[in-house]
Amino acid sequence: MAETILIVEDELSLQETLAYNLKKEGYTVETVGDGRSALEAARRLKPDLIVLDIMLPEMDGFEVARILRKEMSTAILMLTARDDEIDRVVGLEVGADDYLTKPFSMRELMARVKSQLRRARLLREEMGRPEASPPRHETLNFESLIVNLTRREVTLDGIPLQLKPKEYELLLFFAEHKGQMLSREFILERVWGWDFIGDSRTVDVHIRWLRQKIEKDSANPVRIVTVRGGGYRFEG
Ligand code: CA
Repeated sequence: MAETILIVEDELSLQETLAYNLKKEGYTVETVGDGRSALEAARRLKPDLIVLDIMLPEMDGFEVARILRKEMSTAILMLTARDDEIDRVVGLEVGADDYLTKPFSMRELMARVKSQLRRARLLREEMGRPEASPPRHETLNFESLIVNLTRREVTLDGIPLQLKPKEYELLLFFAEHKGQMLSREFILERVWGWDFIGDSRTVDVHIRWLRQKIEKDSANPVRIVTVRGGGYRFEG
């Protein structure tokens, strides 16, 4: 069955271009042009992915993402046009899984779409076989930070953290390479995949998100430290 993508974009020419290119790839596509219609369409369609513009009539993309995040786990790819929007996507917990800055190429968009849909498929498969093997309750302990590998759950001081799938994968990757200097390129390749067409800023963005959750003071991180010369090191 074709995967369903909801496009939320009020700029008609871009909306049409996106729809045309995604349909050509075999996806089922529906388009809407404002925030309220986006909520209605998302609830009705339960799409596999939402491509969500930020500046929209009725209700902006931040608000749409915030509301939908509480209702469904659909992947959200945000389209940003301005630097201050990127700051909000990065700085606030709006619940986007990825973002693209306008203007972008169709090739770039397609790569992000495929990457998000692939991730969603993997998650579905994983959830489809919950009791296949007895739980082992394997954990990685970094003092107050505990990663439960069986339940894919992370707690800090005993409180569960709401990590997005990519943040969890990133943390796990760091945990497996504790004490090693990891370059952005290496992280990008191993956590996002060799076919991911993104810039290394993606890594920085996700590390900022992760730090806000696992560091006591994300402005002065002690768990994931920045290494001069272009990389990060997980100290535990
Ligand atoms: Ca717009």
